[in-house]
Amino acid sequence: MIDLNPSHMQRSAAIDMLHAALENMPRSEEKRREYVGASSIGGPCERRVQYDFMGAEYDPGWRHSARTMRIFQRGHMLESAAAIWLADAGFRLTQTGKDGRPIGFSVAGGAFRGHVDRVITGGPDGLEYPLLWEHKALGQKSWASIAKHGLAKAKPEYADQVALYQAYLDLTSPALFQATNADTMEVHFELVPFDKVRAQEASDRAAGIIADTRAGSLRPRCTDDETFWACKDCPFRKRCWG
Ligand code: SF4
Repeated sequence: MIDLNPSHMQRSAAIDMLHAALENMPRSEEKRREYVGASSIGGPCERRVQYDFMGAEYDPGWRHSARTMRIFQRGHMLESAAAIWLADAGFRLTQTGKDGRPIGFSVAGGAFRGHVDRVITGGPDGLEYPLLWEHKALGQKSWASIAKHGLAKAKPEYADQVALYQAYLDLTSPALFQATNADTMEVHFELVPFDKVRAQEASDRAAGIIADTRAGSLRPRCTDDETFWACKDCPFRKRCWG
């Protein structure tokens, strides 16, 4: 049916304009990293990590959707809120070292790096201080999976990240992993013992990616199927399969 109501048509155009404005706004979050990040090493595809590390151009026209960027921002906002909840509950958290710089590690000449969410330096009895605090804001499905199966089984990539920070920062007391359910605002806490083997394997994976990149050798694809879920939103899909 043709809509002959001019005011409605004007509103539709205005709404379309608003969506387009959000979709096209500048995005500082899209700055590229020039290193392999601890948060990326447990991901599904080593070749994608490698493309990022070598600074390969994204496929023409590719960019995160505005909705995806809002999901990233939701993660940052909930992390800040969750740190305040813990501070209000009597825990002492810090994000910076004595030099005022973000707490993290940098190895392999700066090619492999990571920055922690926080370190908990003190608080109520019951935890071994200092300890690493890692937070994720998750939708219902991922949150419920971690709450049911535990971090290592449900999200091994997050477990890798935790183990790497514990190893490189010598924070080997059990880490506190916190997941906030972005749908229901429930909170899952999990104490994560230091897993030296996991940390070593993740570190070796990073070293392998860095060495291969420097040698000009591409890692294998994570799948033989271009329609695999990890490839669907990969910024390097055309480059990889082309
Ligand atoms: S397109 Fe798929 S296989 Fe290729 S780099 Fe991306 S995720 Fe990996």
